[in-house]
Amino acid sequence: KAAGRGRVTVFDEEMLSDKRYRRLVERELRAAVYLGELELHYQPIVGTEGSIDALEGLIRWRHPVRGLISPAEFIPIAERSTLIDMIGEWVFKRACADIGHFPGRRISINVSGEQLKRDEIVTMCERVLRETGRSASGFIIEITETVATAATPEILRRLEALRGLGFHIALDDFGTGHCGFNYLKTLPIDSVKIDRSYIRSLAHDQVAQIFVSALTQIARIQHIAIVAEGVETAEEFTLARTAGCGRFQGYFFGKPAPRDKTSALCAADGEP
Ligand code: C2E
Ligand code: CA
Ligand code: CA
Ligand code: CA
Repeated sequence: KAAGRGRVTVFDEEMLSDKRYRRLVERELRAAVYLGELELHYQPIVGTEGSIDALEGLIRWRHPVRGLISPAEFIPIAERSTLIDMIGEWVFKRACADIGHFPGRRISINVSGEQLKRDEIVTMCERVLRETGRSASGFIIEITETVATAATPEILRRLEALRGLGFHIALDDFGTGHCGFNYLKTLPIDSVKIDRSYIRSLAHDQVAQIFVSALTQIARIQHIAIVAEGVETAEEFTLARTAGCGRFQGYFFGKPAPRDKTSALCAADGEP
């Protein structure tokens, strides 16, 4: 089934409503971890001058038959069980192994709200850091706005614990859910990523401009960094910068790419 941009939806709604089919995909996904079919690609996050200061790790599944599968397709399946914990651990281990290829840059990883429902997230991160000898300060944990607004005291405690270990916490997809500005004060976060729908609107929508400007002004007082996501054009970069964003991510600066390609990009960009 075609889903735009020549992408093929391999697991559609109908298939997933079939319990047996879902089990099959889960089994394949579990095996994928052992068979080495998962890949972590990296996309640059740049500063106002365009130099790379971090890389977001974005997972892909290279299926032997179905080809490269987007996380939007298989992460929701993984989130239905503790399979997401296994994948989350794979991602963090991969990032710890790869970070040496990106001197002076942090790696930002996506952590599912489902992972935050269990203490395992904290113990896993501690264990992987210990095993790999990496420092938490090299990593940013991205949590989505939906998780943050529905955060229970336990989830908040885990976020504080992760932050206590030295991780930076980023609030992802800001503006898509019900996150009021008050959350910037109450949540243990270091940065906010503005959803790309706002960046897309900056050129023609005054409300989006005011929203982003207000957000960056409040964030400055709270010492929270603002990242503009999905920057695709020079115009969007200029508008986001004018609105006060300090970091930028999007196809304009680079698409997600395998480690070695990203490493070469970082080398060409120089040591920060
Ligand atoms: P996200 O965290 O919001 O990641 C940003 C998505 O926007 C990525 O899609 C990225 O490739 C895409 N993107 C980046 N720049 C542009 C741009 O300029 N224009 C457009 N149109 N898109 C851009 P991707 O890689 O398909 O990932 C989709 C989602 O899957 C992510 O959204 C995240 O929620 C989830 N995801 C990815 N990797 C992981 C992971 O390791 N763990 C978990 N739990 N979720 C992940
Ligand atoms: Ca993200
Ligand atoms: Ca995002
Ligand atoms: Ca998203």
